[in-house]
Amino acid sequence: MNQNDCYQVPVIIGAGISSASIVMLNPNVVVFDKGRFPGGRLSSKYGINPSPFDFGATMFSDLMDVRWLGQEMKYSISEIWKSNSVHIPTRPIYDDTHFYPENGMGNIVSSMLGENKTIQSHKLIKIEMVDETTWKLEFLVSVNKQIKTITAKNIILTIPIPQILEILHFSEKNQKLKHWSDFLGNYNDYRKTLVSYFYWDNWKPNWKELLLNPEASIPVTTLLNRGEDWEYLSWESLKYNNKFVSGSALLVQFGSLFSENHFEDWMDENKNPKPKYKELLIQELKKRFGAPEPNIIWQHRWKYAQAQIPLLGKEGALNLDIEEFEVWKKLGKETGITILGDWLFGARIERIVGGISFLTHNNLLH
Ligand SMILES: Cc1cc2nc3c(=O)[nH]c(=O)nc-3n(C[C@H](O)[C@H](O)[C@H](O)COP(=O)(O)OP(=O)(O)OC[C@H]3O[C@@H](n4cnc5c(N)ncnc54)[C@H](O)[C@@H]3O)c2cc1C
Repeated sequence: MNQNDCYQVPVIIGAGISSASIVMLNPNVVVFDKGRFPGGRLSSKYGINPSPFDFGATMFSDLMDVRWLGQEMKYSISEIWKSNSVHIPTRPIYDDTHFYPENGMGNIVSSMLGENKTIQSHKLIKIEMVDETTWKLEFLVSVNKQIKTITAKNIILTIPIPQILEILHFSEKNQKLKHWSDFLGNYNDYRKTLVSYFYWDNWKPNWKELLLNPEASIPVTTLLNRGEDWEYLSWESLKYNNKFVSGSALLVQFGSLFSENHFEDWMDENKNPKPKYKELLIQELKKRFGAPEPNIIWQHRWKYAQAQIPLLGKEGALNLDIEEFEVWKKLGKETGITILGDWLFGARIERIVGGISFLTHNNLLH
């Protein structure tokens, strides 16, 4: 092992919004991620048509609350960015408390990471103990199929629980890791989400019929049909409308039951729909909007889209006044491994950014 591979600074696994929040507050860390690019579930796709589109999260709320030591405190995400010199041009969407970045949701993570260069294409596959205070991490490097090993004293895992449990399963048995896996088992519940993106060169829906007004000062661009198959519709061409002249673009996130049932054969390796889904999607677009066949259909699937039973609560204030939070802190201290993500804060950008900022400023993140 090369001397440079014994890290004295915290090593973060995962380069999504959780990781970017830590980096923004403490750039003296090293980040490894298995993907080709940072972003995780906060990703935009560029280049397959005139505008970017968001295929994970599509907006965020600026405000969040924390309950700690019997008090509730309010935080604004844009204020947190401002105080850390992170500049993200945003526009309001939906109402005056929800926003999206002008350059795509992926711009949030890249702006918060700033100058910090993440180490991509490194998939963590094993964690082993070297001595009481040092961990050895083994990665599979996808570009050359080689194994790379590093050591560190302080590790922060920001990846979804099922992926952590898989790593722990392949790691040598160890009491500290067992404590973490027993604890994480309580929060291991994620929904799947299938996604389709449709792009038309030369067709726009009748906005009026859809009760959408592109001219409004804060345009509503989304439609939520809770519990239905076509659960969440986001007209990405209204969000990024300066790039659209005669065409339009729609992103659909499918309901959890539909996503569960059709997950396996949703798309081929090029993200094209399998023929039976292509037909079904085209028919549904015609029925719903009188739309012609789109010029592009692009599919995606999120296996661990959103944590369902977060430790600090799914909605309302992040509740730090609970016993489970004390156990979480103790585990981090005792093992030198901190584990966080949407299973801790809830699957909302503002909860993650605000939560990590709060923990850092109050010395609750070690
Ligand atoms: C379809 C969808 C719609 C959503 N809509 C919204 C919304 O509108 N508003 C909102 O606020 N939130 C929304 N969310 C939730 C929000 O996107 C997530 O809660 C948040 O992005 C989670 O960030 P994270 O950093 O914790 O995890 P992730 O973004 O999952 O980051 C984890 C990173 O770890 C990497 N990784 C995984 N395994 C390994 C490994 N073994 N080794 C190395 N790296 C690894 C991954 O590549 C990934 O980059 C949505 C999520 C989805 C999927």
